[in-house]
Formats: sequence, C-alpha cells, structure tokens
Amino acid sequence: MKALVLKDKLELADIPPPVRKPGEALIRIQLAGICNTDLELLRGYMDFAGVPGHEFVGEVVASDDPRWTGRRITGEINAGCGQCRWCLEGLSRHCPKRTVLGIAGHQGAFAEYIVLPEANLHQIPDHVTDRTAVFTEPLAAALEIAEQIHLHPSTRVCVIGDGKLGLLVAEVLHQFCHDVTLVGRHHRKMALVEPSGIVTTPLDQPPVGPFDLVVEASGAATGWELALSLVRPRGTLILKSTFAGKAPLNLAPLVIDEITLIGSRCGPFPPAIQWLASGRIRPEPMIHAVLPLAEYEQALALARSPESLKVLLQIS
Ligand SMILES: [Zn+2]
Ligand SMILES: [Zn+2]
Repeated sequence: MKALVLKDKLELADIPPPVRKPGEALIRIQLAGICNTDLELLRGYMDFAGVPGHEFVGEVVASDDPRWTGRRITGEINAGCGQCRWCLEGLSRHCPKRTVLGIAGHQGAFAEYIVLPEANLHQIPDHVTDRTAVFTEPLAAALEIAEQIHLHPSTRVCVIGDGKLGLLVAEVLHQFCHDVTLVGRHHRKMALVEPSGIVTTPLDQPPVGPFDLVVEASGAATGWELALSLVRPRGTLILKSTFAGKAPLNLAPLVIDEITLIGSRCGPFPPAIQWLASGRIRPEPMIHAVLPLAEYEQALALARSPESLKVLLQIS
C-alpha cells in the first residue's frame, strides 16, 4: 500500500498493509487531516518514526464483528492495554502502555490502510460528509474542556491562538458561555468565528481582562505570558496546545493569584460526532485545501503556512 513514512525525512513509500489482530478492524482511509501535531512530529517531536496521521475518515474492510464491515467510520486514537486501572476506569487515553495512532507506537492514517481496535471505532451518520467528519478528533479535543470544568453562561472566556484548534475551542466554548474573546494574529482566520458572535482581537491589541477562563491554544511562549496576564485571581488557565519547545516560564503569578492550571488533550468522540451531525459546529469553512496523497509535499507546505487552516489529504 501507499503510505507517507517518516524516517529521517518523510517519503511516499510502498509498504505492506498492517496486519489485523483479533479485536481489530482493517480500515481503508478515505480522507485524513494534517494537524499541528503532525508538523511537530516531522520536526522531531516524540522521536516518532513510521506513518503519521491521526485525523481520518475511512471504511471498515475487515473485522471480527460483521456489524462493522462496510461502515464509514472515524476512530479514537488512543489504544490502551485494557487491563490497567486507567483502562478499567474507561480512561485508556491515559494508559501508561497506550499506543496512539500516528503519534506513538501505532502506524497512522497517512496511508491507504490502518488497523484500530473495534472498541475505538465510531460510525459516521450518512448525512455527514467526509470533509465534516474528519474534524471529529480535533472537535473532541475542544469539547474536552467542557468535560474538565464547569462552564457557566456568565463565565468570561478568552482563547489565545487562531489556529485550527483555537477556532474550534472558541466556537465550542461560545456554545456554553456568552462572552468569548479570541486573540490571534490573522484577521482572515478570526473572521471565520465572528458570525457566531465571538469577539476577536489582534495579538498586538490584547483585550481588557480579567477573564474567568483563559485557554492557551497558540503553542507559543508569548501566548503563555499573555494568558497569565489576562486570567483573574482564582481563575482557570487551560493549556490546550503542547509546547514542543522549552520556554522559561514564570510560575509565580500562578501562586500569587491562586490560578488553577489545567492541561487538556484528547476528548470524547460521541458528542463531537453529534455536534457535527446536528450542524451545531460547521467546520468546513476551515478547510484550506484538499490534495491527493501523492501531492503531500505541497500539502505539508500549505499546512505549515501561517495563513492556512486545515489541509486534508484525499487518500482513496
Ligand atoms: Zn491532531
Ligand atoms: Zn491500560
């Protein structure tokens, strides 16, 4: 099968398709999304080698459970051992032995085929297009914030970062909270969320705080400093993007202002699919380009450009 394989550099290669184990499904990938994590992996994050890609829509071509065969699905990316206390509590995404599709120990979705445990699969409703369904994983990550803290309609929210995740986080939080401000660098990207009633402001003219909740989704050290300056005493600061670099952070304000700091990563798929199916979130305007797998170099160059949003790879 054709796949993008990262060794010292990324190459389009012909490799054997993955072999399905009992309890796993073999999936033919139709569409895959390039995410910032993929771009970080290509720069050496996690020392990843193999096939990247974890945002996908595909069709099950073989599984032990005939109900899955032929279904159009997406899948959760963490696969736990199924036996440790985290897995038994339904938190396999924190299993210390977990693999993560296209990120750690599991060949990813920039390939014609992948395997995933059947327990990870979620069917896509027929009326949801591939181009919408491919946003399930990042939307689930945005929804994770609502799983972690109680959001009141009156909670004043500021989201820092106008990348794909920042826009989704702002849209999701605006469904719970009336007063949401997005801070970013790119007017064209921020304009996508303005029709929802989200206030946008450029990074060089930061909003007037304080905010009850600040979400750092820019991945930059400057975003962290801004976040700290905007959160109110006893407020909550959520880190939504992984800092691949090492920045010196001043932690004293966390203590002085008694800030609650929360890390936030992967989230629940079923509500994400429901929100996409009902049109509560409409992510397709975030798609910048859809390119065939063979044009991956151009796709990655586009995905790296600060001006662009979601770039998709059409695989089959
Ligand atoms: Zn991602
Ligand atoms: Zn486990």
